[in-house]
Amino acid sequence: MTSNISQTDNLSAIFSAARAAHLTDPMPSVELRKERLSRLETALLKYETELVAAMNEDFRHRSDADSSIFDITIPLGDIRRNRRSVKRWMKPRRVGVPLHLKPARGRIIPQPKGVVGVISPWNFPVYLAVAPIAAALAAGNRVMLKPSELTPKTSDVMARMISDLFDPTEVSVCTGGVELSQAFSSLPFDHLFFTGSTRVGREVAVSAARNLTPVTLELGGKSPAILGEHASLDYSARRIAFGKIANAGQICVAPDYVLLPRNQLEAFATAMESAVHDFFPAGPQSPDYTGILNDNHLNRLQGLVTEAKAAGAEVRELLPKDAAHASGKMTPTLILNPPLDSRVMREEIFGPVLPLVTYDTAEEARSFVNSRPSPLALYVFSDDQKEREFWLNGTLSGGACVNETAFHVVADTMPFGGVGESGMGSYHGKAGFDQLSHLKSVLIQPKLNGAFVFNPPVSGFNRFVAKALRKIV
Ligand code: NAD
Repeated sequence: MTSNISQTDNLSAIFSAARAAHLTDPMPSVELRKERLSRLETALLKYETELVAAMNEDFRHRSDADSSIFDITIPLGDIRRNRRSVKRWMKPRRVGVPLHLKPARGRIIPQPKGVVGVISPWNFPVYLAVAPIAAALAAGNRVMLKPSELTPKTSDVMARMISDLFDPTEVSVCTGGVELSQAFSSLPFDHLFFTGSTRVGREVAVSAARNLTPVTLELGGKSPAILGEHASLDYSARRIAFGKIANAGQICVAPDYVLLPRNQLEAFATAMESAVHDFFPAGPQSPDYTGILNDNHLNRLQGLVTEAKAAGAEVRELLPKDAAHASGKMTPTLILNPPLDSRVMREEIFGPVLPLVTYDTAEEARSFVNSRPSPLALYVFSDDQKEREFWLNGTLSGGACVNETAFHVVADTMPFGGVGESGMGSYHGKAGFDQLSHLKSVLIQPKLNGAFVFNPPVSGFNRFVAKALRKIV
């Protein structure tokens, strides 16, 4: 059995087969959904060693913690919690109806949509493929996955892993480059789930719109970390350093830049430096420090730093730079006072480079955030409730953390997603189940009911009822 489709022409065939299979069982039982989730769990555990080795090769070096925690343990948790909860989520949901429709009853029935397309990025190549698949299977769908061509070793292992445990009409993996991905996003899926950049997300949304395919867009952007006037400086620096340096900053919700009071700049930069030294006493050769995916990305990141420096910003490299480069890594780098029109302040950084932007008043800092596209995440560091509310209520972001970075992603009791340019729709836990289900509204009418009062021909009695209705609707 094989589900690894590398030819664009075959995409339509695999899609049609999955759709036909879906129509033979459009409402899979809870037992079947749980069994599919169990197979996904078995697949991850069986292929864990191969997946971790492949990620290590694809990234030129991947920290074990980044691979085994983020790409194996976290999706395992998603799969298991979906399996535990799916019976409850699938149940028809009772809802009330307005007085004038009584004694009718309302029910919302979550139904599988059909075939869900998943397009995933390279930065957490397993997690961001498996988590949407787990949501789609819980919701009773069939799935086609198109993983990133930039992590080819991992994508190949995932293709083998899936074809080992799933029939291609249940879940299939289609590997290939951008051309194949464009063809993939043109298929008339019942839902298309895309994780990647805002630029490509826009193109995927246009392709999907031609088929009126609904989309979930999990995108990126520039997520600010705000150091409030009432923040604990050393604590904040350590949490921001963690969020920026895990996976070498190649995380959609990594803090992209820090906004901090002008008089804290020097103290904060020093605290960051000491946090980084504590995390990596062996320097950039530390096995805990992940590499940059490829030379294109390394050169892009270096280019951001060089441009900001040439424009007058102060650059501080926190670990030895040459030793990092020699192993395909990039030293964690602070950019103090970058020009606001420099590329490092306009583009998503997606690497271990952290601009520090100072403010004089909180209002000025908030206007700065609000004048830019809504970020995927916003991090407020403050021990003062009023200051936290000032930020949480006065800005729009996909999600937020208080005195933390990035961890909201793994709290799957909460929907995860962006807003505006950082995305649309959400998933994780029940939010993912609902996102990939059609929530069908059903009105159940008992035979003994009052609907006859609306029957023509219209009489004086009907007019009386219509008038009374005006008062109660
Ligand atoms: P990308 O947008 O370049 O690619 C993502 C996927 O889209 C890949 O599988 C790629 O093959 C495919 N693709 C590329 N061009 C396409 C096209 N024209 N039509 C259809 N598909 C196409 O993103 P990336 O570089 O792999 O990942 C990094 C980006 O993803 C960052 O912006 C990051 O913030 C974002 N991201 C978001 C989340 C989230 O959950 N919101 C998570 C991880 C990464």
